[in-house]
Amino acid sequence: MSAVPTVGPPLWLLAEVTYRCPLHCVFCYNPIDLADTGRADELSTADWLRVLREARALGAVQCGFSGGEPLMREDLEDLIAEARRLGYYTNLLTSGVGLSPERAASLKAAGLDHVQLSFQDSTRELNDFLSHTKTFQLKQGVGELIKSHGWPMVMNVVIHRLNIDHIDRIIAMADALGAEYLELANSQYYSWAHLNRDHLLPTSEQIRRAEAVTDAWREKVADRMKLFFVAPDYHEGQPKKCMNGWGNVFLTVTPDGTALPCHTAKMLPGLAFPNVRDHDVRHIWHDSEGFNRYRGTGWMKGACATCPDQQKDLGGCRCQAFLLTGDPAATDPVCPKSERHGIVQAAVAAADAGEVPTRPLVFRDPKSSRLLTHPGAGPRTS
Ligand code: SF4
Ligand code: SF4
Repeated sequence: MSAVPTVGPPLWLLAEVTYRCPLHCVFCYNPIDLADTGRADELSTADWLRVLREARALGAVQCGFSGGEPLMREDLEDLIAEARRLGYYTNLLTSGVGLSPERAASLKAAGLDHVQLSFQDSTRELNDFLSHTKTFQLKQGVGELIKSHGWPMVMNVVIHRLNIDHIDRIIAMADALGAEYLELANSQYYSWAHLNRDHLLPTSEQIRRAEAVTDAWREKVADRMKLFFVAPDYHEGQPKKCMNGWGNVFLTVTPDGTALPCHTAKMLPGLAFPNVRDHDVRHIWHDSEGFNRYRGTGWMKGACATCPDQQKDLGGCRCQAFLLTGDPAATDPVCPKSERHGIVQAAVAAADAGEVPTRPLVFRDPKSSRLLTHPGAGPRTS
């Protein structure tokens, strides 16, 4: 097969409309330097409307509105209404904070198709601890609101060492709330989750138990709820076909207009990502260096270069390769064929041995972001 890929349309547009968020999740995938993108740096309504039109003209069919907390944008209804008018299927990915009855009604009127509500846990204590907010009760009410507006009830819970043993109660909670879909997504270790990895990585035994519990529930609720258990690649030793291939299906636009092949790719060094303020989406998708660098298999080296499984996983995740080896073109270290697979094995072994990290958990908030990004700098006030 040719190493030069045929480029189809960006079927999925992920509009990260803001990094502002009332929650402070320890596993958040937003960038560590999120405080550098303040409200004043966010794309205007007119910019977003243009991005929606350009991506749709290129063939995008699904549009996810995400963040941060997308409900922090007062123009969200305008963006959703335009997306619907253009023919997108629209998704709102929300913590539920800000989804008042009035807001739900206006989003319904704008034509929103689908809401995905995130929970941190099935207990108030851990939900509120992990997000550093008191939001558990509120989320329960939002679940009922979603049902009352006739949206499919889709729940997402990021799974990690601190909540994985509650998986039975998490599924029971989703069932009680009338969820039709429940995604139990094992944390991916990027951004804030990578900082906190040694607190969050489950043991192998925890994963085995959680899978068995999920399988038992799957049979029990087969007539009413679909359960997705997204397996952790650290334990599986199976590189994932990240974003279904670099620049293959997904186009992410961040709050300041940076266009990315995946929401964490901005961390990769030596790669200039284009901005929708400077270029139209067609140029970005087809001609920019940022989208072309890791497309297909031509960039591969090391174990990947001669591997028969190239098409299966396209070399795994570039961000993970960079975070764990310092080289974004390396074989993803979760792959047993990687020379650096020992890094991942050591992390899993430390989790299995119950090693307690010395560094405390870091909560995702602008203050931590500024301290981590600009150590020694004074606080930004805007
Ligand atoms: S993971 Fe938590 S902190 Fe991050 S955007 Fe989502 S709700 Fe906000
Ligand atoms: S060597 Fe590369 S292409 Fe082969 S399985 Fe591992 S990550 Fe995938």
